[in-house]
Amino acid sequence: MTDQSTEKKCVSCERSEQVVPLVAITFAQNGTWICTQCLPTLIHDPNRLVHKFQNMTTDNPPEPLLD
Ligand SMILES: [Zn+2]
Repeated sequence: MTDQSTEKKCVSCERSEQVVPLVAITFAQNGTWICTQCLPTLIHDPNRLVHKFQNMTTDNPPEPLLD
């Protein structure tokens, strides 16, 4: 998981930026990448990706802070 090679890969499907657009994300001060096709999974079904992020909790959905 701590692959420091220069090739950027999706943290979920491990496809490279050569084949999919990647979005930079950060968690616990660890920057990583996720592709646009896996991003909805992280948003809507984070339990499926929780093993990719040590200590990530999914049981505390944020409350919108809009007035
Ligand atoms: Zn992906």
